[in-house]
Amino acid sequence: MVKNLICLGIESTAHTFGVGIIEDGEVLADVRDMYTTEKGGIIPKDCGEHHKKLKNIILQKALDQAKLKIQDIDVISFSQGPGLDPSLIVGKNFAKELALKYKKPLVGVNHLCGHLEEGKFFTEAKDPVFVFVSGANTQIIAYEGEKYRIFGEALSVGLGNALDKFGRGVGLGFPAGPKIEQLAKNGKYIEIPYIVKGMDVEFSGIVTHCINLFKKGVAIEDLCYSLQEVGFAMLIEVTERALAHTGKKEALLIGGVAANQRFVEMLNTMCEARGAKAFACPLKYSGDNGVQIAIPGLIQYNSNSCVFKTEKEIENVDIKPGWRIDDVETPWMEK
Ligand code: AMP
Ligand code: MG
Repeated sequence: MVKNLICLGIESTAHTFGVGIIEDGEVLADVRDMYTTEKGGIIPKDCGEHHKKLKNIILQKALDQAKLKIQDIDVISFSQGPGLDPSLIVGKNFAKELALKYKKPLVGVNHLCGHLEEGKFFTEAKDPVFVFVSGANTQIIAYEGEKYRIFGEALSVGLGNALDKFGRGVGLGFPAGPKIEQLAKNGKYIEIPYIVKGMDVEFSGIVTHCINLFKKGVAIEDLCYSLQEVGFAMLIEVTERALAHTGKKEALLIGGVAANQRFVEMLNTMCEARGAKAFACPLKYSGDNGVQIAIPGLIQYNSNSCVFKTEKEIENVDIKPGWRIDDVETPWMEK
């Protein structure tokens, strides 16, 4: 009998340090810890320190969860980029150290590719238009011409960050997305700007406009409702055009904002109207985690993509902080 390969993935691009272990189609472990702050955003250097402090503990917890020893692992993968330098460096050094010490092949994974492959792994979507909406990123992505390509994106802030920025402006605290969703249930529509430029979307002007309306006394429920309806509609318009252009029949929502039920409902309505199917990545895996790095780790290992095997190759591996998804080679996809 051929033994299934076991891959250990290390996520370390931003706030989260995670270790995931998978064996073929099964998740054996998922352990993660997120760097948080009381006030304000991420301080990159502190975030790196957080990861450094916890990396060994998280690795051990993941191995315990999987009931494995590090020697049982066949492949080690790590998030090579894009991300914050101090975070990326911790993951890269740790992965290299383990690969060299235990003589395992090392695979460099693109973090966004991790989100996309993980979305397919956990849903029935095969070849969707991806609606990737996290805090920092908002991109409409699809596989075309032998690459994952970005069809549209947010020009300044991503939608999650835009919602959080609005939340800060009106005193809702962080993260504001879930609170906005609740408040919106008692709101009604008021007119605010709708900004789609070609296939791209722009949220920062809308947020400023909404904060100004709040200061003039407009009800917060109405602002939350309108911000959601307009922000989601802008993305769904671009998604619909990407579906029409590519001829694809599936849309897959991934990223933290996918938690929003109104967003899922609007995507469903659009997809139904054009005979397509909507999917959403399970909430548990929508945030950054090690499983999302282990999944492409195994896929890439099997197609020899970004795989480092010799001691010399592994020693030379470095981070890729600005690695775009359209620069990822995808030999594992069907031609
Ligand atoms: P991520 O960067 O993928 O971890 O996602 C985090 C972002 O998702 C933050 O900006 C949150 O405000 C946002 N978010 C989380 N839950 C919701 C929700 N229910 N509705 C809208 N946004 C949300
Ligand atoms: Mg992410």
